[in-house]
Amino acid sequence: MSQIVRTTQQWQGLDRSHHMHPFTDPRDLNKKGTRVITRAEGVYIWDSEGNKILDGMAGLWCVAVGYGRQELIDAANEQLKTLPYYNSFFQTSTPSQIELSHVLSELTPPGLNRFFFTNSGSEANDTVIRLARYYWKLRGQPTKRTFIGRKFGYHGSTVATSSLSGMAPMHDQDHELLPHFAHIVHPHWYTQGGDLSREEFGLQAARELEKKILELGADNVAAFIGEPCQGAGGGIDPPSTYWPEIQRICKKYDVLLVADEVICGFGRTGEWFGSHTYGIEPDFMPMAKGLSSGYLPIGAVAIHDRIFEVLSEGGKMIHHGFTYSGHPAACAVALANIALIKKEGLVERVKSDIAPYFRATLQQMADAHPIVGELRGVGLIGAVQLVSDKANRTVLPPTHEAPIKAREFAIQNNLIMRPAGLQSLVVAPPLVITRTQVDELVDKMKRSLDQTAQLFGLA
Ligand SMILES: *Cc1c(COP(=O)(O)O)cnc(C)c1O
Repeated sequence: MSQIVRTTQQWQGLDRSHHMHPFTDPRDLNKKGTRVITRAEGVYIWDSEGNKILDGMAGLWCVAVGYGRQELIDAANEQLKTLPYYNSFFQTSTPSQIELSHVLSELTPPGLNRFFFTNSGSEANDTVIRLARYYWKLRGQPTKRTFIGRKFGYHGSTVATSSLSGMAPMHDQDHELLPHFAHIVHPHWYTQGGDLSREEFGLQAARELEKKILELGADNVAAFIGEPCQGAGGGIDPPSTYWPEIQRICKKYDVLLVADEVICGFGRTGEWFGSHTYGIEPDFMPMAKGLSSGYLPIGAVAIHDRIFEVLSEGGKMIHHGFTYSGHPAACAVALANIALIKKEGLVERVKSDIAPYFRATLQQMADAHPIVGELRGVGLIGAVQLVSDKANRTVLPPTHEAPIKAREFAIQNNLIMRPAGLQSLVVAPPLVITRTQVDELVDKMKRSLDQTAQLFGLA
């Protein structure tokens, strides 16, 4: 492979001149200069200055099996040599697409046996919006178009999925939401539970869905969408009462249920899918990230049999698809990734070994740390809530710079962790992380939080 080698400064200069970064303040980036990541192995990444950094975020929640796995590399290589591309629009398929849909049908909850391939999580959620609305049209209820999501939900960054998401800064940037999108509260006990128990609060938060359906009219509501455990919103794991109540309300009002598994899927919560962990029975299950461990871009939507039956009954072409839907190389990598997760028993390992250790170690740090109010998340999603007053559950104000500074300290300490919603910091390492590496992660996290507390005089 030919790679042009330049100095870090040269790369930073070119990056400054020509590259627009996602979710980045360009002026701030230009001031600081980009960090150039040049290689990776296992749970570590290296930058162009030779720093070895523990990747506490598995890339962007995706590198489940860790970096440098030969099985995935070989799968891509072989597929590219044999058949680098072919589409599936005109009554054709490729073996890796067929095998992947078959393998996925064995992993997903009962009834989810049909798969549509995309190139990203955003496209998967866009697909859900289109298919759910078409479903209701075919059922003779074309007014059922509105999607209800949650505050701090993240479902993507396309025109439609930014409205589906519940991120206020994204909505503000676009001036307004698209029509037919609504949001209810996020199930975060710490900031909203008051004197209620977690379980009581879980019911109350779920019943906001019922209120919203009644307000909009059930005849106008297509679906409810939620991440089993909210990721970018701050690792918000709902109380145990929440999902069963959501499920009951969706059934009662004939509202479809969408579990956005883009982060939770493929072992991160200790089961194959977050829907298994929380007992959710979704109609649609969008997935991406862990599907290929990020080695190549691919997403998918699992569609329930009862939905697909109606979509097929239309007796018409379903006008939806992408040139790269089911890209053969991406499908081959996803197959190799799933095979590796199975071979190494990673889902079981997360559940009974490494996630319990990760959570216990983080919990100890969180309990003792003066600026950490709570530990959230599930499995290998760990989010710590930054607070100014631990005793009174007072979180830092939304504009406080502590989370950004904590991330900068973390990078100086050779750890990747990121700010998330609600003034929290989140880590979600590769599923292959060892206990020693978890200790290293939590040590570095603690040191970065100590430095942050000291800088802002918070402790
Ligand atoms: C990342 C993410 C998406 C969007 O996926 P992209 O591949 O970035 O388009 C959707 N839903 C959830 C829950 C995500 O975390």
